[in-house]
Amino acid sequence: SDEYKLVSKKWKVSPTTIDLGDGVCIKDGDMAIIAGPCSIESEDQIKKVIAHLQESGIRMMRGGVFKPRTSPYAFRGMGIEGLKLWHDLASAAGIKIVTEVMQVSQIEEMYPYTDVYQVGARNTQNFNLLDELGKVDKAVMIKRGISGTIEELLQSAEYVFSGGNEKLILCERGIRTYERASRNTLDLNAVPILKAKSHLPVIVDPSHGIGIREYVPQMALAGVMAGADGIIYETHEVPEKAYSDGQQTLDFAQSARLADWIRKTFEMR
Ligand code: PEP
Ligand code: MN
Repeated sequence: SDEYKLVSKKWKVSPTTIDLGDGVCIKDGDMAIIAGPCSIESEDQIKKVIAHLQESGIRMMRGGVFKPRTSPYAFRGMGIEGLKLWHDLASAAGIKIVTEVMQVSQIEEMYPYTDVYQVGARNTQNFNLLDELGKVDKAVMIKRGISGTIEELLQSAEYVFSGGNEKLILCERGIRTYERASRNTLDLNAVPILKAKSHLPVIVDPSHGIGIREYVPQMALAGVMAGADGIIYETHEVPEKAYSDGQQTLDFAQSARLADWIRKTFEMR
């Protein structure tokens, strides 16, 4: 059978815990908060985000240094030098790094500076990339494909898992539907379904899911109530000046408030 197997609950009943070290975990029965800018932009920006995360008790920072942009003329990221700089600052602050890997050749150069390799929605079915990430002993977060089904996301996870890497996280980030009033359609149905089908932790990304800053908080909380094991969202000191995805990015005050609401909502779940 070509059905997914290893990521299924039929194969392993107990939920998989992702331990990033220093007491930072992503796991069932807990609420991971991952926040940061869409793109890493400068040393100054990194420092400001880290200070905000520390004040808010957030231990995982997201940010892209290799950015998949629709237009080739848009900002495409600081590259490996940006990641090195970020890693210096984040590790000194006890903060873990979640960042996108776009292609096989980047895996090795990113390795010393990365805690979670993010596979972006445009690469969910890049099977060569998934094969190679299967050989790495670091966590991988796979985002659902832009027009990908739940089944296809699980099959992509199966590629990494069957390659030998069991440190896997699934991420619902919205799918493309006929609806144009929002950037994507956040499929919250996927959360309980993924949790029922798989032992892997499930994270919700309301920023890319709806794409509109003012609605990110309520969709994040809806994700918590849907059963997510964590939320990943975009924040920046001045969202209007962000190099990418500013329209869906929270400022630090909004982010601090949201982190608080996420924790309170999780306690009520
Ligand atoms: C991102 O996290 O900034 C990103 C590009 O996400 P996605 O792959 O879900 O579009
Ligand atoms: Mn983004």
